[in-house]
Amino acid sequence: MTIATHPFDALMNITARPPIVFSRGEGAWLWDDTGKRYLDFMQGWAVNSLGHSPDIVIDALTAQARRLITPSPAFYNDISLRLAQALVARNDFDQVFFTNSGAEANEGAIKLARRYGTNHRNGAYEIITFEDSFHGRTLATMSASGKKAFEALFEPKVTGFPKAITNDLASVEALIGDNTVAVMLEPIQGESGVWPATAEFMQALRALTQARGLLLIVDEIQTGMGRTGTLFNYQQAGIAPDIMTLGKGIGGGVPLGALLATNKAAVFEHGDQGGTFNGNPLMCAAGLAVLDHIDRPAFLKSVVDNGHHLAGELQRISARHGLGEVRGSGLLLALDLKRPIAAAVVAEALHDGLLLNAPRPDSLRLMPALNVTRAEIGQMIGQLDAILTRIGAARCVA
Ligand code: PLP
Repeated sequence: MTIATHPFDALMNITARPPIVFSRGEGAWLWDDTGKRYLDFMQGWAVNSLGHSPDIVIDALTAQARRLITPSPAFYNDISLRLAQALVARNDFDQVFFTNSGAEANEGAIKLARRYGTNHRNGAYEIITFEDSFHGRTLATMSASGKKAFEALFEPKVTGFPKAITNDLASVEALIGDNTVAVMLEPIQGESGVWPATAEFMQALRALTQARGLLLIVDEIQTGMGRTGTLFNYQQAGIAPDIMTLGKGIGGGVPLGALLATNKAAVFEHGDQGGTFNGNPLMCAAGLAVLDHIDRPAFLKSVVDNGHHLAGELQRISARHGLGEVRGSGLLLALDLKRPIAAAVVAEALHDGLLLNAPRPDSLRLMPALNVTRAEIGQMIGQLDAILTRIGAARCVA
């Protein structure tokens, strides 16, 4: 055993983190261990749908922890049954498998599609995914992702994920062959900078997959659970996919994901899928409380209204500083900075007590809590405006 010389040394160094240690959170705010306060417009990458440590999640977890934490995935438990029923009552799917992360939900979707191929399509196993997509960090989901930085990593990858181009139906059609079993799409590509698939593309993709007997999988890990103003983003396109994956916001901050499928696509056989913590009542209790809170017309309307307001404010800033477009939907938005200054903006913001995310060197991604207030949006915009002015001024001096 080595005694770590610095507290950071005992954690695997898997990403460049700023030397800040967070110790408390409440709503839109985080505090570090020196007591400095930060306005959080990342929220764990769209995870804390109701902000940091919301009472709704605390109460659900506390009450459930006193009742039952983990019976065993070999048995039914009342809370996972309730959450599964609540989910399928609100969308086009019939069955749910709960997971501990988004990647695990996608890994399950990939296995489910392959099982469908074995059972119904002569062993077809290929799943068409998209350039610049992101589906997670397990080996199969990295292989499914179209993220350029993943290309050289962990070879040999899992095979069977040809990449098409979002909003280009011909590029999908060109990849369909005897081995194709499914197409897997993020309705809005989040990690690569908030690039939406159009409703027309999603409709055409549904029609194409149906005509060719293929499954359509939507990865709603980032776009689902109210993030874009409807409970699930695919509903805005008026389509009915065969499989959907959820993660991030579904647990309101705790590790919960879900794989949903129609009866036709839910073809797992005993032994195909499972996991020690899957569907544990503690996490499902949080999911149930979050779903109850989010799926109310007034709440979803506030996401739409605040999303429009935030987009309008970002457009104002863009015009003032000569930046580019504002993309996205609801409270998943990106501001195109037109220049590779995103890292500088994020660093300045951190210094000023504001947490922003830069998915690309030239863009910012905004994904506040779904219950963010106008005052918090106003404060973030004021701080961002000041930072852009400072960075602009620094460029002039240079
Ligand atoms: N799919 C999408 C669209 C995501 O945005 C993410 C996470 O950023 C994932 C999958 C992976 O989820 P997780 O990090 O919970 O494994």
